[in-house]
Amino acid sequence: MNKWLTALSVILLAMVLAACGSSDNTENGNADGDQKTLKVATESNFMPFSYQSKGEVVGFDMDILEAVMAEAGYEYEVENLSWEAMLISVEQQDSDLAMAGITINEKRQEMYDLSSPYFESTHKVVFPEGEGITSGEDIKDLKVGVQAGTTGEEAAEKILGKNANNLSKYDSNTLALMALQSGDIEAVVTDNVVADEYIANNPDAAVEMIEDPETFESEFYGILLPKDSELTDEVNEALATVIEDGRYAEIYEEWFGVEPNIEAITQ
Ligand code: GLN
Repeated sequence: MNKWLTALSVILLAMVLAACGSSDNTENGNADGDQKTLKVATESNFMPFSYQSKGEVVGFDMDILEAVMAEAGYEYEVENLSWEAMLISVEQQDSDLAMAGITINEKRQEMYDLSSPYFESTHKVVFPEGEGITSGEDIKDLKVGVQAGTTGEEAAEKILGKNANNLSKYDSNTLALMALQSGDIEAVVTDNVVADEYIANNPDAAVEMIEDPETFESEFYGILLPKDSELTDEVNEALATVIEDGRYAEIYEEWFGVEPNIEAITQ
């Protein structure tokens, strides 16, 4: 055999061995009990729950996700999508689950599984300083922005009317807040902690916010899974353990600097 043929057979042998190696190492669940790597979708325009820092998606939700996945014994990878794409990808089972401050509501419960609650939230109105808004009703005739397809949109539509002319719907919360900054709109309705974070991080933005418990109801975030997912029970069990054993409180305090009200999410 000349040296080229020898070299070729060495390469072929290496390829055959590599192929065998990878078939041993299947990434999907198999009879040996190996867990598959879960695909987790998020939308990183929702600081402090899911946002980008140094090229990575981080946030309260990402830390809760890490604890829940560790408890349930799953490897996972995070895919960052748009809000709309994230919801579709779970609906179509392209993703195994999603986290991005997703509120549990009846409409979503018809189409998806949602875990038990891990965070209590409500809405706030963000507006330019001095605009004089004191209640949710005050935005009725203003140009209001929301993120399309969110509970903030629903909350605003309760006040302004469905698809009202003075309501602008943006693809992300970040875009809605940018429109407020540039003066295209006069108020944004968004989740309270996201509003707090935005104001804390943008002291020069000259915006303020109000909360109004009479207009804006309390709601809860949950982990979103495809309808009737086999994972829902495991995720719920792991989340309950993470809450019970104190890991939840630890993560909560790291992000929010105060102790969580565990009763509010477990009652
Ligand atoms: N909590 C809101 C909802 O579920 C908004 C979530 C978000 O924009 N990431 O509709």
